[in-house]
Amino acid sequence: MDRMRELCDILNRWAHEYYVLDAPSVPDREYDRLYDELRALEEESGVVYPDSPTRRVGGDPVKGFERHTHIARLYSLDKAVTYDELNAFFTRVRKVREDAAFTVEYKFDGLTVCLTYENGVFVRATTRGNGVEGEDVTAQVLTVPSFPLKISYRGTLEVRGEAIIRLSVLARYNEEHPEEPLKNARNAAAGAIRTLDPKLTRARHPEIVFYDVNFMSEDPVRSQTEGMEFLRREGFKTYPFFRVCRTPEEAIAAVEEIEVGRRQIDVLTDGAVIKTDDEGVRAEMGYTEKFPRWAIAYKFEAEEAESVVERVLWQVGRTGKLTPLAEIAPVELAGATVRRATLNNYGDLTRKDVKVHSRVLVRRSNEVIPEILGAVEHVEGSVPVEKPAVCPFCHSPVKEVGANLFCTNENCPPRLIQRLTHYCSKNAADVEGMSEATLTVLYEKRGVRRFSDLYALRGEDFAGLEGFKEKKIANLLSAIEGSKQIALDRFLYAIGIEGIGRVAARDLAAFGSVEAVAALTFEELMQLENVGEVTANSILAYFADGENREELSRLFRAGVQPVAQRRPSTGAFAGESVVLTGTLSSLSRSEAQARIEALGGVCQSTVSAKTTLVVAGEKAGSKLAKAQKLGVPVIGEEEFLRRLGGE
Ligand SMILES: [Zn+2]
Repeated sequence: MDRMRELCDILNRWAHEYYVLDAPSVPDREYDRLYDELRALEEESGVVYPDSPTRRVGGDPVKGFERHTHIARLYSLDKAVTYDELNAFFTRVRKVREDAAFTVEYKFDGLTVCLTYENGVFVRATTRGNGVEGEDVTAQVLTVPSFPLKISYRGTLEVRGEAIIRLSVLARYNEEHPEEPLKNARNAAAGAIRTLDPKLTRARHPEIVFYDVNFMSEDPVRSQTEGMEFLRREGFKTYPFFRVCRTPEEAIAAVEEIEVGRRQIDVLTDGAVIKTDDEGVRAEMGYTEKFPRWAIAYKFEAEEAESVVERVLWQVGRTGKLTPLAEIAPVELAGATVRRATLNNYGDLTRKDVKVHSRVLVRRSNEVIPEILGAVEHVEGSVPVEKPAVCPFCHSPVKEVGANLFCTNENCPPRLIQRLTHYCSKNAADVEGMSEATLTVLYEKRGVRRFSDLYALRGEDFAGLEGFKEKKIANLLSAIEGSKQIALDRFLYAIGIEGIGRVAARDLAAFGSVEAVAALTFEELMQLENVGEVTANSILAYFADGENREELSRLFRAGVQPVAQRRPSTGAFAGESVVLTGTLSSLSRSEAQARIEALGGVCQSTVSAKTTLVVAGEKAGSKLAKAQKLGVPVIGEEEFLRRLGGE
């Protein structure tokens, strides 16, 4: 019996070295020799230890998948596909804790599995299923060697990981099975686990990469970093790329690193996962109905290709920011020929080490202009890009702020044209046909400078301009006229207040009118979920500026009418400033928010002296404590639903 114990320990250590650490210390035949010895002893004695490696061989096919209810709900992740959405996430987190750190990991594309341990022994593996209930895949997962059957921690816990099949393993499998090749690594991994025959699982060689641990009772882990350390210490396979980032900028840089790096690794990935590191921040942020509010998946939905930088030009944006624009060797991307790609700013260009004649990775998605993600390779003739000392258009001095260079001239021509282009863009005033090229002509030939100048244009203004035929002119004029009826959030986005993206514009639009937004104080702005300190100050500065106020009245006089969903003055929540905290079981936070607003209430993100009501769901944290301290009335979910129902 002692020899069996000894053999289990040795074989498990060797398997860990081989499968988890990728550092085998003995030849395969040595492993096989001891393995055979162990199996003989097991047959002889009729005893099999719970952590015996012979359990991994794969038993008989199972009849069907048993359903199994998870001990704790398995949430999926909220998704971001743009940096605007990602930045909104950072803002939400930083409102809870200003110096919150983030972790960035690969998001692998396979099948999520959940492994349960009790008293230090592996007892069960399940698929995620619908998050509440999954399928029991213990027999299948047992054949995967990248996790331990025995751990030192004694309490009940669940670890989560992604079952994957390496791209090289998939390629080899397909070579060996030309009659029935597997389509892609994700389906191959899911199929390998969700098969009724565990021997088939084993034949496809899936691995599991672990990234999360949940403890049922006392929790010895206080952060994502500690969770990963725990997993490694206990012998689970984790992926080596794991970044702890002190700032959103560092986190974005790590996401970009993944976007470049994922093309070189042997695993299929479709994004990056960004989490707040600290458990305290997580507890405070809580969960929506579907997602944790403290984590987000950034999905790469774009196409990428390599090209060569031919030269780098500088563009001036609507804020005066100088953006390096690379002319590249033409490359086919997402159905278009791409000849130019942007780098975000001077700092970005330096950090990504992009030089003229370098090979670079270019990305294009529907939403953004093609972008250079990084240098793939330099050649002998690669030349560093010179940093401009003056604006290449108006020759005004250039100011350096952080990673950015700015033209200091408020009326720099491309800057004004870009402001107009932004105003007319699809998600803003949506003036169809009013392209950058058209606006450049109108700027140069007809003196169009401000948004309000657009509304003064008449048919005769286009006479004599090259390329403007009757039909086109009529279409433009009707598009301009049509843009006068505009949703308030679009209008607030269109006028180009610095830092206001579409997400924050929606927050502001809840106040019902431009006048109401202009009257907000710093404290009131900071109550908004997606507005941070920098943006709050930029909103204040915008409305404090005389020229901006005059331009707004010119627009209103011209007939521009931003319309908001009017907040009813009667209703169960009329006049109330409501803070939602904790998790509601019957509706999501955004649904609750919409219902409150429909009944005349205003939703705030933090409790202040102005708060008149707190709705506390399950696991309500510090907001509830603060409400009690300030004497703000608190109601629970039941009462909340009753008031919603009383409409
Ligand atoms: Zn300039």
